[in-house]
Amino acid sequence: MGADTHTCWEKFTRYFDVEPRIAPMRPDDFTLSAGDVAARVDEHTIAVGALLGTTFTGQMDDLSGINALLADLERDRGWVVPLHIDAASGGFVVPFVKPELEWDFRLSQVRSINVSNHKYGLVYPGMGTVVFREKSDLPEELVFHINYLGGDMPNYSLNFSRPSNSVVLQYFNFLRLGRSGYERIMANVMENAQELERRLTEPGHFVGLGDTSTFPIVVVRAADPDALDLFAVSERLRERGWIVPAYSLPANAEHITVMRMVVKENFSRDMVDAFSSDLDSAVEKVLSASGTAEANRGKARQPVC
Ligand SMILES: *Cc1c(COP(=O)(O)O)cnc(C)c1O
Repeated sequence: MGADTHTCWEKFTRYFDVEPRIAPMRPDDFTLSAGDVAARVDEHTIAVGALLGTTFTGQMDDLSGINALLADLERDRGWVVPLHIDAASGGFVVPFVKPELEWDFRLSQVRSINVSNHKYGLVYPGMGTVVFREKSDLPEELVFHINYLGGDMPNYSLNFSRPSNSVVLQYFNFLRLGRSGYERIMANVMENAQELERRLTEPGHFVGLGDTSTFPIVVVRAADPDALDLFAVSERLRERGWIVPAYSLPANAEHITVMRMVVKENFSRDMVDAFSSDLDSAVEKVLSASGTAEANRGKARQPVC
């Protein structure tokens, strides 16, 4: 896996005593490449995890390159290394906005895919889905058959009782919206994300890092990090009620600080406008505070508003 993955991956390896082999980022490339995988895979590798929509920068790992590498390993050495796609962020977007993009079971080595149904606000938080390529990919010994709730209830999970409200709501949305409904919603979400990115980057203080042609995830860094402290901008936005995290990227790109905005279904065009204007004034305040600090060096202190 790459350093671009969500914490859940490291959590899995620690809880299940699996040795993680994590490819670091590069200073100018924040995704997992086929070369990264080639350097870490061997005959004991249980799986390669790759992302459709990375957590840190909202991009896509080189899924077709990694798939080709694993197919070659199977053909040339007989190593069968399954590919799991973490589509938590992309699984409910890409099929509707870029259906031609091959990231799923169309890639020969993909055995399983997970998606966060809730990520863009369309069901209650916490619902996720995993799908396997074939029934045999889920060993029967992992499925417990329970009779004490009446009838045969197959159970495959870590904990037991879970609310079913999300499942009901998800089926309702499938039936109510259909494919065309999801297409409309996602087209709108993408448009708002692209407009948000345009509004953020046009004035020149921010540079976009993500891939807003594929994912409604806007990630920016400061055009001049010495002049504009993103942690201070994030703090200022919080005063206006916007929670926009600022954070540094993992090794070896930790010198880059970014802010990330995941555009959900309820983030309307009006909110893009309101957010952009709050951001503009946050940036101005941070710049004038640091400009004043510069100007005040060795001078009498000026009042700062
Ligand atoms: C959000 C996310 C997760 C975690 O999903 P939850 O639905 O919050 O449990 C895992 N991987 C990626 C890439 C994510 O974006």
